[in-house]
Amino acid sequence: MNEKERHLCLSSLNEEQRQFLQTYIRQSKCDIWVEQLAQLKGIELNSRNDTDELNDFILVDVLDGGYGKRPHQCECGRALRFQYIVKHTRKEIEFKLGSECFKKFTNMDTSFVKDVKKGFNKVNKELDDILERCTSGTFNVNNFLIYADLMPSRYVEQLELNLPLSQKQEAKVEQLIVEKEAQLAQKELQETYEEIKDQLSDEQCGLLDSLSEDERHQVIIRMKNGEVIHCIEDIKNIDFEDIIDRNEILDKRSNKAARTQKKSVDQINYNTIIDSHRELLRAIHARSETIPSNLVKEWTVIRDMIERAKSGEDIDGGVLIQKLLIISNAIGIDVLEYYEKG
Ligand SMILES: [Zn+2]
Repeated sequence: MNEKERHLCLSSLNEEQRQFLQTYIRQSKCDIWVEQLAQLKGIELNSRNDTDELNDFILVDVLDGGYGKRPHQCECGRALRFQYIVKHTRKEIEFKLGSECFKKFTNMDTSFVKDVKKGFNKVNKELDDILERCTSGTFNVNNFLIYADLMPSRYVEQLELNLPLSQKQEAKVEQLIVEKEAQLAQKELQETYEEIKDQLSDEQCGLLDSLSEDERHQVIIRMKNGEVIHCIEDIKNIDFEDIIDRNEILDKRSNKAARTQKKSVDQINYNTIIDSHRELLRAIHARSETIPSNLVKEWTVIRDMIERAKSGEDIDGGVLIQKLLIISNAIGIDVLEYYEKG
């Protein structure tokens, strides 16, 4: 959007909406100016002593008259495409300057001005984004107002004026929603834990507390769902120490199982699959409802491989074992138990 289009869009809004956006834009630009200035001061504080002077000027805005046009004017009379509006803080005077005079007035170097201008452009783009969403009418303010208690108050104010959020703001809100949901899930889990805790011995509680958060969650979810642990008696019999060591032990055993199997297999047929993996396959099948959703696809692949072998095709035994190990690990099956038997 160029300046004229932006101006036109803004003038189609009601007074409150326009004022809100203009204040927001002015504030954002001021923030950028202060931020850049602080950065500059940080770098130059030791080498130059004119920072007091730098503080006297605030860049209020940079106007862009558009490519090939020079509708603006510098205090010195020169026609300009870009006009820098600068305020002298102590004297409360505004100057409208071209880039050359701006540099002379403020002692700012070109790269600094460029950075500020880039920042201002971003702010303008965000404004354009909001204005375009206003025009297209696709943004539903109410869909976001239900999250009012999660949002910065400025966003709420914007939505209550029936102004859309920018893409950037929308992304921020989505992030806040995700964080809130994670928080709630955590809270719910904690509450379930508190309920279950009453029925465990101190020793078991202590062990549960000493688990990693992830592992504790898994155990609590299982206890809650009753999928693996069916009654409170079972919970009491859980060897928590074994759970603590489970990952480590499983890793070692799985590697060993993988190594032993790797030597003998490559392309295998249906009979070999049944001979070597029948028991493990049965065990996984029995618990297939506890397979985490991200691994369900793997389980489908395994069953597909077996179907293919059944119809006479040789399949890659290494790949099959790898997939079996991943799933077994995830649902708490001790793989070696099944391979040592055979
Ligand atoms: Zn000038």
